[in-house]
Amino acid sequence: MAESMKGLKRTARCAELTEGDIGKRVTLMGWVAKCRNKGGIVFVDLRDRTGIIQIVTESEGADPRWGSLKTESTIAVTGIVEKRGGAFNPNLRTGTIEVIPDSLRVLSEALTPPFPVQDGIDTREDLRLKYRYLDLRRPELQHRIMLRSKIVELVRSFLSGEGFLDIETPDLIGSTPEGARDYLVPSRVHPGAFYALPQSPQLFKQLLMCSGFDRYYQIARCFRDEDLRADRQPEFTQIDMELSFVDQEDVLDVNTRLLGYVLKNLAPAYEALEFPKELAAGVAAAAKEIEENGISRMTWQDAMDRYGSDKPDLRFGMEITDVTETVRNCGFGVFTGAIADGGMVRGLNAKGMADLPRKKIDKLTEVAKTYGAKGLAYIAVKEDGSFKSSFSKFMTEDEMAALVAAMDGEKGDLLLFAADSFKVVCASLGALRLAIGKEKGLIDPNAFRFVWITDFPLLEWSDEENRFMAMHHPFTMPNEEDWDRIDSDPGSVRAEAYDIVLNGCELGGGSIRIHRNNIQEKMLEVLGFTPERANEQFGFLLTAFKYGVPPHAGLAYGLDRMAMLLSGSESIRDVIAFPKVKDASDLMIDAPSAVDPKQLEELSIEVRLPEK
Ligand code: ASP
Repeated sequence: MAESMKGLKRTARCAELTEGDIGKRVTLMGWVAKCRNKGGIVFVDLRDRTGIIQIVTESEGADPRWGSLKTESTIAVTGIVEKRGGAFNPNLRTGTIEVIPDSLRVLSEALTPPFPVQDGIDTREDLRLKYRYLDLRRPELQHRIMLRSKIVELVRSFLSGEGFLDIETPDLIGSTPEGARDYLVPSRVHPGAFYALPQSPQLFKQLLMCSGFDRYYQIARCFRDEDLRADRQPEFTQIDMELSFVDQEDVLDVNTRLLGYVLKNLAPAYEALEFPKELAAGVAAAAKEIEENGISRMTWQDAMDRYGSDKPDLRFGMEITDVTETVRNCGFGVFTGAIADGGMVRGLNAKGMADLPRKKIDKLTEVAKTYGAKGLAYIAVKEDGSFKSSFSKFMTEDEMAALVAAMDGEKGDLLLFAADSFKVVCASLGALRLAIGKEKGLIDPNAFRFVWITDFPLLEWSDEENRFMAMHHPFTMPNEEDWDRIDSDPGSVRAEAYDIVLNGCELGGGSIRIHRNNIQEKMLEVLGFTPERANEQFGFLLTAFKYGVPPHAGLAYGLDRMAMLLSGSESIRDVIAFPKVKDASDLMIDAPSAVDPKQLEELSIEVRLPEK
């Protein structure tokens, strides 16, 4: 039977107790993690968010409930802290002490949980998510969620110290310019009309700059109806900011310091939250690096050329080499054909991997093909200096030797080549580089390598839409040096946009905004907006800009990704208390679900399901 906690006051959390508390009388409340009855002596592991403390009682005779406590029940225990009578437990922070109780209250008796509430279980994720509140009791998840909370605390304290104001923006709005599919909310008052949930607070934060708030931030919920991946959720959280009267240097500076501050002050939290020491050391080292040297920068072009990606993983080298000139006139038609089509030939040197079995090379070829490559040409430089290659029969000996030399190929190396357009060569070699880095164990999981990527292209050609789209969003400032090419060669115009990348993951991004009418109008025209459509979608912003607008810029981080990377997790679901699964449903509350026909009627909505 459940008892009341009336008259009791919790005096400490379980694992806050130390040897310094020996002799004190304490009242603890928490969950029964384990209950063992050893011949009349009962050992209970009592758990709360700080960890576990052992309760030991011989008083089963006095209170027989001690011997039959069900795991996951909540109890209140009052007793004296003592040095452990039995062997110390080096795995517990409280492993040298225990509590000898003199009273017990069973606050709530638990059913047998559907899976053990402990770390290292192999329970299917969907079952864990259905009972997420139990899953969240597991120390591993508790610690990740607490680390995330600490990150937010640090972000807030840094930004408020820098004069940023925390201002909320609405969730029931119209379309935002991030370019994903919107989540729509029907309006009851305006039949047939819909709100859209914000993909980001972009337009509002720019309006706040027009209002004079100068420096804004918000821990903001964002909604994008996109296909989910391991690092994406339909609703996610951004650390969103905007600043007035600043240039790119100002934005990168304050954000470099923000990251340094968060890492530096987060590092000490790792030990208390029982993260591996190596992870804590990695974070501390990154904090030191930022403090001493800032965060290095790389242009978008450089990142694509050297790493095949605008989010390069700098935890290992293995850069891409351009061999287009070396093979321009060689005998291999795949190479010369790609060059004749305006493409290029580039390669990777997988050092010491010449012995990679055929099967594994085929696997790498599959990786390259996923990114549009038609195949993968290779040369293995054998120990005796001879070459094993997929295309040597098309090449002269000199051509082969020149190619190997251009790649710095040495005995034992495996050279891999892609011949195609810039886009396909970058994407496929970029993916191969990562695959090989993983295969060869080149990536230190405890290293944190940040880099700013700058000078993104302003526009990106979309085959699907048959027009240029904004690479960031339509309010991103073009690079003034390139602006005169906006009509003749729009694809070559760079933007004043930047991303912050951590370990091959886009952690955040932002841009200088257009605050000049003539540039904004031209930009919208290039993006194919008629003045009417532009007006309809963000006329309020364009109008606001006519009443005195400060030059402004901003940036947003994905908080979930940040917490994922900094907690050494592989999935963002591990750092979100109540995440959704791949098909965007919530398994615990069973959403989305059909609604009462009456609700639909009120909204003037009729549902027509697609035919199967
Ligand atoms: N709103 C942008 C985004 O969500 C970030 C920014 O430009 O501040 O990607």
